[in-house]
Amino acid sequence: MKYIYRFEEGNKDMRRLLGGKGANLAQMTTLGFPVPDGFTITTEACQAFYDNNNQLNDDTLTQIEAAIAQLSEKVGKQFNSPTNPLLVSVRSGAAISMPGMMDTILNIGLNDQTVEVLANMTDNRRFAYDSYRRLLAMFGNVVYEIPEGVFDQVLEDVKTTHNYQSDLDLTVSDLKEIVDQFKDLYVGKAGKVFPQDPKEQLLAAVNAVFESWNNHRAQVYRRENHIASDLGTAVNIQMMVFGNAGEDSGTGVAFTRNPATGENKLFGEYLLNAQGEDVVAGIRTPQPISTLADTMPDLYNEFAAIAKKLEFYYRDMQDLEFTIEHGTLYMLQARDGKRTPTAAVKIAVDLVDEGLISQTEALLRINPDSVGAILYPEFDEAELDQNTVAASGLPASPGAASGQIYFTAESAKAAHDDLEQQVILVRQDTSPEDIEGMVISEAIVTSRGGMTSHAAVVARGMGTPATVGVNGLQVDYQNRVATISGEQLNEGDWISVDGTNGNIYIGQIKTNDTKVNDNLSTILEWSKQESDMGVYANADTPADFAQALKFGADGIGLTRTEHMFFKPERLLEMRRLIIAEDAKEREAPLAELAKMQQGDFYELFRLSEGRSVTIRLLDPPLHEFLPHDEKEIQKVADQLNIDPTYLARRVDALKEINPMLGHRGDRLAVTFPDIYEMQVRAIIGAALDLLDQGLIIEPHIMIPLTGSKAEMKWVREVVVNQVEQLFAKKGAKLEYTVGTMMEIPRACLTADKVAEVSDFFSFGTNDLTQLTYGFSRDDVGSFMPEYIKKGILPADPFQTVDVDGVGELMKMAVEKGRFAKPNLPIGVCGEIGGDPKSIEFFEAIHVSYVSCSPFRVPVAKLAAAQAHI
Ligand code: PEP
Ligand code: MG
Repeated sequence: MKYIYRFEEGNKDMRRLLGGKGANLAQMTTLGFPVPDGFTITTEACQAFYDNNNQLNDDTLTQIEAAIAQLSEKVGKQFNSPTNPLLVSVRSGAAISMPGMMDTILNIGLNDQTVEVLANMTDNRRFAYDSYRRLLAMFGNVVYEIPEGVFDQVLEDVKTTHNYQSDLDLTVSDLKEIVDQFKDLYVGKAGKVFPQDPKEQLLAAVNAVFESWNNHRAQVYRRENHIASDLGTAVNIQMMVFGNAGEDSGTGVAFTRNPATGENKLFGEYLLNAQGEDVVAGIRTPQPISTLADTMPDLYNEFAAIAKKLEFYYRDMQDLEFTIEHGTLYMLQARDGKRTPTAAVKIAVDLVDEGLISQTEALLRINPDSVGAILYPEFDEAELDQNTVAASGLPASPGAASGQIYFTAESAKAAHDDLEQQVILVRQDTSPEDIEGMVISEAIVTSRGGMTSHAAVVARGMGTPATVGVNGLQVDYQNRVATISGEQLNEGDWISVDGTNGNIYIGQIKTNDTKVNDNLSTILEWSKQESDMGVYANADTPADFAQALKFGADGIGLTRTEHMFFKPERLLEMRRLIIAEDAKEREAPLAELAKMQQGDFYELFRLSEGRSVTIRLLDPPLHEFLPHDEKEIQKVADQLNIDPTYLARRVDALKEINPMLGHRGDRLAVTFPDIYEMQVRAIIGAALDLLDQGLIIEPHIMIPLTGSKAEMKWVREVVVNQVEQLFAKKGAKLEYTVGTMMEIPRACLTADKVAEVSDFFSFGTNDLTQLTYGFSRDDVGSFMPEYIKKGILPADPFQTVDVDGVGELMKMAVEKGRFAKPNLPIGVCGEIGGDPKSIEFFEAIHVSYVSCSPFRVPVAKLAAAQAHI
C-alpha cells in the first residue's frame, strides 16, 4: 500500500487521501510554485494506524524512512548534520478542516547539537534557542501530554525574576535556562526524556497527530458536524524555511482579495526578519503587503503572479501563507479564504464577471443565512471585544442595537417622543397593548416566550432586533427594576441587544449598518432565474410590504389581519368588539373596523401592483387583546366609557383555560360570522375600488385553524355568500380564491377532503409544530434550550422543520391535497418559511411557495435557488 505521497505526486483533487492541506501543498508544487519540499502521510495510513492498535505499521515506517532519505537528498540537508541540519514541520490535515486536533509541531530535528548549528547558520543565537524551547513545549504538550500551562509558568517565572515585560526581553542565556528547565519537566511530569534523535521526534509527532484524530474535542466536533469518524487525518512533513534569517527574510499572510469588502486587490501583511507567529502575535506591527512592492519589488511581483494564478486555478479567493528566506519566496499554504457576507456576495458576482465561475456556482458559494446578515446591523467588532455577555436568550429577530431600557410601552414611548431617547422595551412578555412601545424601540427583550411568541413574531415583521426567553432576566414592574444575571438595572439604563445570536450586554455598543447593494440584487436576480418557488412576505402593514418589495418579494403570503389592529384607536374598537355580548353590540365596532380595514387592504393591493396577496381572516387568541389586571381593566373601561365591573365580568367570561386551543381562528367565525363577513367585504371592496382604477387584483382569502372539511365548507360558504352579495350590490365582479391554512394535524390527515373545498393550502408551521409536538409556542423558551443542549432535539422545531414528524404530516397533506386537486397551490407561511434548511425540504415535497418576514425574503430566495440546483 502506498502510504506516502511526495508533494510533487499529488493534486488538489486528492483531499480524501492527502487531507485539505496536503492536497493544496501538492497542487502548488505541481503548478511549479516555490513550496518547501515535503511529503504527506495519507489518511489511509491513519486508518492502518488504528487497525494496528494505535501503532504505525511496518509498511508506513519503512516508507517514512525512505521519504526522509529522498527529501534529504533533494534539499541537501540531513537530520543531525553538523553543517546543514534538516528541520521539518509536522502538521495535521484532515479532508475537512477540523478544530480540536493537534495542529502543528515546528522545528522537529532540533536538539542540543543542531540548535548550535542553527545559531551559527542564521547568525542568531536567540532565534535558535527560542525555536528550541518552542519545540520542547509543543512536543512535551502534544506527545507527552504535559499541560501547556506548566511550560508557560516556567517562562513567566523567569520573566518575573528578571522583571521582564515581554518574551522579547528574554536573553540567550535565559532561553538556555528555560530549555534546561523544560527538559527537567519531561522527567518530572512524564518520566521521560526529550528524544535527541530527530527520527524519534518525527515518529512520535506523527503518532501524536494520528492519536489526536480520536481525542475528545475532535470527536465532539465530528459528531456535531456530521463528519464520518473513519475518514482519518493525513500528516504533512515539510522542510522548515526561516523568515527570521535576517533582514532579507520575512513572513506574511495574504488574501487574494479583500476578505472584508471583497475588493479585487491583494490584501495582507508581512514582517521582515520574523517567523510565522510574530505576524499574528501582535508584538511587532506588520506592514501592509503593498509596501513589499517597494522593499522587494521582484519578490512582490512573483508573489502577486502566484496569487493570481492560484485564484484562477482554484476559481476562488485564496488565503495564503508565505515565507521569504534570504530573498527567496516560499509558499506555505493556500486555501479558500474566509470572508464576510458582504465580501462573499461581491466575490461571487465578480468571479462570474471574470468568467471564472458560472452563475449557478456563484449561488452555491453563498450561505443564505449570511445574506440575511448583510441586511442587519451588527455590533462593531472592536467594541464588542471590550464587552462581556450579561445574559442570553433565543435569537428571535436578527440585528443589533443599543438603547435605554423601559419596562412599559408608555414609558418607552414617552422617553422616545419627549426625550428623543433611543429605547429598548424590556418586558416579561408582550401583547398587542405594547405595540406602540414596540414600534419605536430599537430592540425588544422579553424574559419569557419562544421563537413564535408575540414579541418574536411582531419584532421579525418589523425588522426590529429581539431576544426572547432570556434566562437570568427578571422584570419587576412594581418596583421598576430589571435584574440581568444579578445586576440591577433601572429605566433609562443602557443595554445592547444582539438578536442574531440572542446575546445581551450591559452598556452601549456601536453598530455598523449594512444595506442591500448592487451585488446582492444581482444574486437575488440570478436566484429568481434558478427557482420557480415563489417567495412571498408575511406583511401586515404597507410599510412592511414596501420593505419586502425592496427585498424582492413576489407578493404577500400572509397578512395577519389581527396585527392590523395594533394601533390605539383600533385596539379600542377591537376590544369593544370582543367584549360585545351579541351581534347588535358588535355592529358599531364592526362598522368602524370595516372602514379601517378596507383602507388597509386598498393600500396593500395598490402596492402589490397585481402581485399575489393572501389575506388571512382574523385569528386572535382573544386573551391577547384583553386587559389582564385591575389597573388595566380600569384604564380600558375608562377608554371605552363603560363600567369597570361590567368589563371585569366580560373579561372573566371570555377567559379561557387554554386560549391557544380555544376560541380563535375560524372558530370565531362559527360563533360570530359577522366578523369574517366584515373582513370579506373590506377585502373585496378594496379590490373592486382598485378595479375601478384599472388595477386587476385577485384577492386570496385565507381561513385560519381549519380542522375538517365540514368546518372549512361552512366558513367558505359564509365567505362566498358575502362576496356574491357584494358583487350583486356593486354590479361588478372579479376573480378571487378561498383557501385554508394547514396548521391543525387533523386537517393534514384529511387533506384530500379539505382540498375539495379549498382553492389553496398554506402551512401554518407555528401552530402545526405546536400541535404536533404539543410544545406551547409561547412557553418553549424555558425548556427548549435544554433539549438542544442535551441533544434530545437537533434544533428548535419552530426554527427548522422537524422533518420526521411535522414534515411527515406536511408531506402527507401535499400528496393527499394534490390527489384531490392536482394543481392545488401549496405554500408555507409559518416562521420557518424563511429557513434555508427547511426550504430544502419544502422543495423536496413540492411546496409551491414560501412566505416569511420581509428581512428573510432574500435569504429564502437564495435558499430556494440552492434547493433547486
Ligand atoms: C402559523 O401558525 O404558522 C401561522 C403562520 O399563523 P400564526 O403564527 O399567526 O398563528
Ligand atoms: Mg397559526
